[in-house]
Amino acid sequence: MKCPICKHGQTQPDTVTVTLVRGGSTIVFRHVPGEVCENCGETYHSAEITEALLVQAEAAVAQGVEIDVRRFAVAA
Ligand SMILES: [Zn+2]
Repeated sequence: MKCPICKHGQTQPDTVTVTLVRGGSTIVFRHVPGEVCENCGETYHSAEITEALLVQAEAAVAQGVEIDVRRFAVAA
């Protein structure tokens, strides 16, 4: 798709690293599928991926995780 941020680049499917900070918890998800703009580098994720990230981050916070690096996995 065309990048809505810079309005010039095209996004390409890629896997990226996403870091979420919630309160005192930092959760790093590796290999998250998304789209990356070839021009400005902005990354986009589908609603399903975003939802899964937030759910997994909240679960980690509930477990009292301070920092965690995990490979992203979603039941699709
Ligand atoms: Zn862009």
